Amino acid sequence: MAFAITQTCCTDATCVSVCPVNCIHPTPDEPGFGTTDLLYIDPDTCIDCGACADACPVDAIFPAGDLTGPLRAYEEINAEYYAGRDVLADVSVAPNFHRWSPPSFGRVLPSDFAPLDVAVVGTGPAGMYAVEDLLLHTNARVTLIDRLPVAGGLIRYGVAPDHPSTKKIGETFARFHDHPRLRLRLGAPAGPGLADRHDAVIYAVGATEARRLGVPGEDLPGSLPAATVVGWYNGHPDVEPDAVDLSAERVVVVGTGNVALDIARILTAEPDALAATSIAPEALARLRSAKVREVVVLARRGPEAAAYTRPELLALAARGGLVVDAHDPRVAAAIEGDSPGGKAAWLREVPREKVDWSTPPPEGRRIVLRFHSAPVAFGGDTEVRAVVTSGPEGEVEIPAGRVVRAAGFRGVAVPGLPFDEQAGIVPNEAGRVTGRPGVYVAGWIKRGPSGGIGANKACARETVGTLLEDAVSGRLPARRKGNGARRLLGRA
Ligand code: SF4
Repeated sequence: MAFAITQTCCTDATCVSVCPVNCIHPTPDEPGFGTTDLLYIDPDTCIDCGACADACPVDAIFPAGDLTGPLRAYEEINAEYYAGRDVLADVSVAPNFHRWSPPSFGRVLPSDFAPLDVAVVGTGPAGMYAVEDLLLHTNARVTLIDRLPVAGGLIRYGVAPDHPSTKKIGETFARFHDHPRLRLRLGAPAGPGLADRHDAVIYAVGATEARRLGVPGEDLPGSLPAATVVGWYNGHPDVEPDAVDLSAERVVVVGTGNVALDIARILTAEPDALAATSIAPEALARLRSAKVREVVVLARRGPEAAAYTRPELLALAARGGLVVDAHDPRVAAAIEGDSPGGKAAWLREVPREKVDWSTPPPEGRRIVLRFHSAPVAFGGDTEVRAVVTSGPEGEVEIPAGRVVRAAGFRGVAVPGLPFDEQAGIVPNEAGRVTGRPGVYVAGWIKRGPSGGIGANKACARETVGTLLEDAVSGRLPARRKGNGARRLLGRA
């Protein structure tokens, strides 16, 4: 009986490094690693040792035979990844039993350098993967800073409360908060002069601003950025408990990423089902009295181009109350014509219905996926009353009392650092901030808002590697106070 990786996979590949027979793919060295929805176990090669399940930080790995309910599909999903692959011909999926190779000491050899003092700004995944790398592989002293009083960043305030397994990775990160070489400063802005007091600074502050849609009415009251809704149900200190009014029967969410599905799922959930989660109590109370019966998820493009991941869609479909609007024949054609395992084919089991927007939503609660439908304006005088969309039927007005803009995020300029307004990132080369020696970036503020939690591991590792190269080659500026002496890195 093989093991299988399931819905909550964070793709940080901790499991890959412990598998004795190299049967978990894609690995960080293989194509597709940065964009895969989840990692997959080859059932023909797995020897059932259970090492991956023990190492998984989000409890996503189980013996395939033990899977129940909607998770049963993951036995096939894991196997499907390997179907048709000739593992003997394709060395990337062949077991290698970790053959010994000549010893490697990485880019930095142990030397007589004194410990580096590194400040890391941001306690989300990118910051914590950088901290982990610095503490485990060097003798650096780390000052970890977050402007919020509670650590965790996107894990604490971004992951939906009904995804406790995903949030569990926060416990893995929190182990480092008590490390003897780490000083934790919460509830404190990074402030000026940080670079003067440290050998290097890594900013891992994420990308928190909603990407603008550029349509009339976008700033009407009742039009909310996704970050407000996500912060509201997660109790973010910057978001007022009454920030989200749920007195409308229909809410439109613009965008098809996992954040859009999270918002649609939470707004249509049975409140009792959320009571045992980490949802903010004020948000739960509002959901109990909410009038919302329908959330419309609006996509500019077809189902083959949706941004959500397969695990999120499968979970939503298994819950029920999900419908695809059959307004455009291209939608059915894409779903039926897609090859098995293709993105549009994921919707084959989801009911389709031509939605009549002139009538109120039906009783109960449901989510409508509407593809090939771009918002061209938000209607309303004093607040949002409708979303006007453009599609195959021409312009269609969808009455809606609230609109959530979930079409992506962008970074916000960091005081004192250069900023690329177009890309919404701090310009950098492998994490080294352009024109600012000793200053680095990791995560979304470095590469833009793409990839899940695990993608930040390789990203942060690259940044730390760049920092260490600079330290060894003398490119770190001497601190104003203290020494400019060579520093002991001890990285092997
Ligand atoms: Fe690899 Fe063991 Fe996990 Fe199978 S159970 S995928 S052999 S670590």
